[in-house]
Amino acid sequence: MESGRKTVYSLAPFLRCPVIPIADRMKVIQGVVLPRLLYGADLYGMCGSLTDAMQRLLNTALRSMLRVGSWKTLSSYALWKEFGMKPVCALAAGQRVQAFLKYFELSTWVHELIAEPYCTKKWMWVTGVSWWTMQQCPKHSDLSKEEWQTWQTWTPSNAKACVKAAITQREHSLRLTDHRKRPETNWYSDGGYSLTPLYRQSISYKLVSNLGIALLICARMGTTATVEVLFSMEKLPMGWNGCCPCCRVAIMEVIPHILLECSRYEQHREKFLLAMLRQLAEVDPDKVLDCHQKSFILLGGSVDNLSLPAWLPPTTKKDDPLVDKLSVGSANLSKLSSDQSSLLENEEQPTLGNLLPPETGCQPGSLISSPCGTS
Ligand SMILES: [Zn+2]
Repeated sequence: MESGRKTVYSLAPFLRCPVIPIADRMKVIQGVVLPRLLYGADLYGMCGSLTDAMQRLLNTALRSMLRVGSWKTLSSYALWKEFGMKPVCALAAGQRVQAFLKYFELSTWVHELIAEPYCTKKWMWVTGVSWWTMQQCPKHSDLSKEEWQTWQTWTPSNAKACVKAAITQREHSLRLTDHRKRPETNWYSDGGYSLTPLYRQSISYKLVSNLGIALLICARMGTTATVEVLFSMEKLPMGWNGCCPCCRVAIMEVIPHILLECSRYEQHREKFLLAMLRQLAEVDPDKVLDCHQKSFILLGGSVDNLSLPAWLPPTTKKDDPLVDKLSVGSANLSKLSSDQSSLLENEEQPTLGNLLPPETGCQPGSLISSPCGTS
């Protein structure tokens, strides 16, 4: 664990660097950080206290890419979905099950140890794997309990994949329905953002977009430093309750207010969001969507299958067919006329990829030090 901690903290400056594409930083997390954290998972893979510690380190690495510090209300579910990661406990458990089954095939003493385990009432590595797998996996898996009874006959790689899927499902449902459910997770799941993650493995955004992408991901995860969020973190005195620090209207500052109503951002809205607001009016001609739902759609989410066509920001590979394949809006894109689909390709169009952070306003830090801005 110590080597994992050192790896994460020594890489933090690299992971925070805004001029390195997010996709490249993510490759370092997957190629360097994750293997370090999972080193020895063959043995510790089902120990909750150890995998929780590893998960905290991995979340720290992912947070570094968004330049978000120790954010109290960050939703792990949103973080995993946005970056396409599985929980560490699922990866580690899969690795342990795979190792367990592989040892049957070896001709060394490990094979004897596995085939004829030492009989004791105590939890052992050999007996523990079987018990834990049957205890945890069937109730969260698509496979039936009867199918799980035969898991020791599966190929190691197949067993690993099934265990990973089941434990991932367990962790997701814990956060979506159980006592660990929290407002930020609701914000992320209600917005349907997991269908259009901004981070994409094989495509880098234009370098100038990196900061904007990080800000967008924060807004989608509900970690923008609005008054509402700062209150929940007890970072603001009571005097700010029910008052927007930017326009001074007696209304709680939340993301829908910033995107749709706040007069402070009128110019930014005109300049960067006008095209999308027009599209939104076309998508919702009967005006049935409320402010929250409109915000979900403006941030790239979807409500009842309604979403903006060609929402995903422009990338450096403008003509890459993968852009269409990876975009959930691809079905919509194919129906677009050529002048509409050129929205993706034309850098001058006011799409979200060109959205730069405002010079003043509700950015973390600046809000706490000077909540009224300069107006
Ligand atoms: Zn306002």
